[in-house]
Amino acid sequence: MGGWFMPGFFMVIIVAVIIWLIFRRQPAPVPQALSCPKCSGAIHASYFRCPHCGDTLKHNCPNCSRIIEHDWSYCPYCNENQSTNVEATSSS
Ligand SMILES: [Zn+2]
Ligand SMILES: [Zn+2]
Repeated sequence: MGGWFMPGFFMVIIVAVIIWLIFRRQPAPVPQALSCPKCSGAIHASYFRCPHCGDTLKHNCPNCSRIIEHDWSYCPYCNENQSTNVEATSSS
């Protein structure tokens, strides 16, 4: 049993670690570049109003008055359905 075996053993481990890292690698959470739905200007997720066109990006939930996003279908706080203004398309 010579010491020559160890370098090869480490090589196998290193290769295994590299393979593990490659398969383990997940897409980095790149901050999503948000854009204003009205003017396509760059906005931040925390913006309440678009600094370019002044369009309101968020609004208050009619039920619990918490600030929610425009594209949210449901209020995450009180589960209020936010798409009530979109419905009523069915004929009466
Ligand atoms: Zn805008
Ligand atoms: Zn709510």
